[in-house]
Amino acid sequence: MRTLERRIVAVFVGLLLLIVALILLLVDRSSAHLVAAESQRQLTSGAVVFERIVEHGRKQLETAAIVLSGDFSFREAIATQDRPTMVSMLGNHSSRIGASVMIVASLEGRVIADTQHPNSAERTFPFAQLLAQAQMQGRSSGFALMADGHLYQLVIVPIQAPTRIAWVAMGFQVDQAWVSEVAGMSALDISVIASRAKPPVILASSLPGALRADSALLAVQPGMQARELEMGSHHYQALALPLGDTAHAVLQHSVDQSQGAFNELMRTLALISLGGSCLFVLGSIGLARRIVNPIDQLAQATALIAAGTYDLPVVIHGKDEIGRLANSFELMREGIFSRERKILRLAYEDALTQLPNRTRFLEWLGEMPAQSPATVAVLDLDRFAMINSALGHPVGDRLLCLVGERLRANCGEGVMLARLWGDEFAFLVQGASKDKATAFAQGILLALHEPLQLDGQRIDVSGSIGLAFRPVDGIDADTLLLQAEQAMFDAKRRQCGFALATGLGDSAPAEHLTLIGEMRNALTQAEFTVYYQPKLLLGEGRIYGAEALIRWQHPVRGMISPGVFIPFAEQTGFIREITPWLLRQVIAQAAIWHGSGLALVISANLSARDLLNPQFVILVSQLLEEHQLPAQMLCLEITESALMEDPAMALRHLADLAALGVRLSIDDYGAGQASLAYLKNLPVHELKIDQSFVRSLTESPKDGAIVRSTVALGHALGLTVVAEGVETAADQSWLQAADCDIAQGYFIARPMPAEAFAAWVSSWSGNR
Ligand code: C2E
Ligand code: CA
Ligand code: CA
Repeated sequence: MRTLERRIVAVFVGLLLLIVALILLLVDRSSAHLVAAESQRQLTSGAVVFERIVEHGRKQLETAAIVLSGDFSFREAIATQDRPTMVSMLGNHSSRIGASVMIVASLEGRVIADTQHPNSAERTFPFAQLLAQAQMQGRSSGFALMADGHLYQLVIVPIQAPTRIAWVAMGFQVDQAWVSEVAGMSALDISVIASRAKPPVILASSLPGALRADSALLAVQPGMQARELEMGSHHYQALALPLGDTAHAVLQHSVDQSQGAFNELMRTLALISLGGSCLFVLGSIGLARRIVNPIDQLAQATALIAAGTYDLPVVIHGKDEIGRLANSFELMREGIFSRERKILRLAYEDALTQLPNRTRFLEWLGEMPAQSPATVAVLDLDRFAMINSALGHPVGDRLLCLVGERLRANCGEGVMLARLWGDEFAFLVQGASKDKATAFAQGILLALHEPLQLDGQRIDVSGSIGLAFRPVDGIDADTLLLQAEQAMFDAKRRQCGFALATGLGDSAPAEHLTLIGEMRNALTQAEFTVYYQPKLLLGEGRIYGAEALIRWQHPVRGMISPGVFIPFAEQTGFIREITPWLLRQVIAQAAIWHGSGLALVISANLSARDLLNPQFVILVSQLLEEHQLPAQMLCLEITESALMEDPAMALRHLADLAALGVRLSIDDYGAGQASLAYLKNLPVHELKIDQSFVRSLTESPKDGAIVRSTVALGHALGLTVVAEGVETAADQSWLQAADCDIAQGYFIARPMPAEAFAAWVSSWSGNR
């Protein structure tokens, strides 16, 4: 039984038992009173009846005696001393009324005739006291004990002829028969005790045999008040009435008898209470169940909700308060459930495509057993930013939805698909087989190949996929996603559709993470420095300027190349702190050189994020102002991929920078996918041909052709053309012959610290 149920039953049953106990106690108490009062009443009325019977006896005796005394022949027999006649007449009268004593006595008190002793005459009259009383009052009556030990009720009257000639005495014996008769009429038990006898004796009693001799009876003395009498296990109320001077009668009322009725009542009451209590217990258990069961159900339902299970309805029928409570509860649960679903949807679903979002994707990865092999594929659409800016964002959004649908339809069973952000989607494939992953990536690319229809317009989309494998490329979700994204960038750069992450970075993922952590401290600990690599004006043999390249002097790992940590800085957003720091260094240094008469254009590298940061242009103009550096002495290098993300905004910021007078350069030209038409619109001044073309310049005729035509194109667009990665004298001569404007590379000088650079420039013959 549950606590509440137990408590309800305990309270109900406890109250009932209390009430029953009170009733029984009350009945018990009042029964004692009633029994005592009843005994008193019985005794009082019994005493009246007893007196009447005694009086009746007296009158009967008196009448008979008077009748006898008036009999002429009887008087004559007395006068003639004819004893036989006297005896026979006495005998006739006594048998008529059932008297047991009939004595004729002389005036002197001597017995003349006696029915009990017809032959022995001339005795003294046995009841002297009563006779004396008769002599004084003319007649007398009362009880008297005879010498034989028997008690009698007697009446003595005179015999007149016409003067008094004798006394006649008549009497009934107070014996067992007398007592039984009186007891029957008074409805009491009666015992007669000869109190003058030594010792006192019980003459007769209506009590049952065993009690008749009980000595306790002898202790009851005549009086007005009834008293309690214990005889063995029997209880009586007793009242003693005197019978003359020599005896008394004890009237007894059995308390047990009256009590018996009450005991019967108590028994019945107790039985009813017991039966009632049982019914009550059952009833209250039932009631408690009816109250507690739904509460219990509600409690279980709340426990479920507390544990996060909202989808089990609370079903409790009934129109009572609990039913209403359950109803409101159910409404509440439904509310929570739908809100929870909505929250989950908002938290885990991409609002645009209704695909799971990045958070959900990371959770999937996190929920998988840590060592189970998996493939993470990241897909980024090619030229999406261009489509977005050319056709407008609403079209771009719908295009993303269509792409999402197509991907969903083609990614196959058991593959989880999510939209990470922008035009980047991710897949989670079970297993880490390279062949399968390759086939999967090809399948997805093929599915994208089919043109999409948007407002009746045909749009060609393509994408680049990066694949990372667990556990080879990483265990945790972040590392895997990072690896896959880098592979995707790699694929984009190489325009090869998809690329595998394996073998991408030379440092293990765990190392990357610590690197990211340590990068934050590097700025405050002044572990970053700037190196400068000279740019040579090929036509004049003079140093035109330098490219500022960041270096991380790590206290443990030594010099870390920017190629290792800049990608992380870009991904984690930390680049937003590096670039301003670098610009401050570079502009301050350029101002010093400018002030000292060195006419050098210093280049700094920008990231895509810098170009999308609206504060960036303001920062550049403030720094130029602060250090009093003419804007044209600063050149900012931008890669093509930085332009692709949001061309419209990048273009706006580039225009602002150009308006400041800052020189702008397209870095790594040819490595990316920028179109020529695109180049036409950019407010840039310089084109840096990517190292990959320059390195094999003298061996590969195709690269030679590309470089030569790029130089021509740059010039046609009014741009200065720079070749970087010049490692040999042959390269340099080739470039000079090809009319390239500026060369940069190890052959001229490696990147070096600022002081070393100033000294190096001073020693450069062309600048002296
Ligand atoms: P980048 O802008 O293309 O810079 C040229 C890289 O080529 C530099 O590598 C430079 O040391 C290297 N280099 C120059 N001449 C030669 C040569 O003759 N042969 C060879 N093999 N390499 C040569 P570094 O300094 O390791 O920088 C790597 C990349 O890191 C840079 O490529 C640039 O994209 C990025 N980076 C460097 N400093 C910064 C910076 O301050 N900010 C930003 N956002 N990126 C930076
Ligand atoms: Ca550069
Ligand atoms: Ca470059």
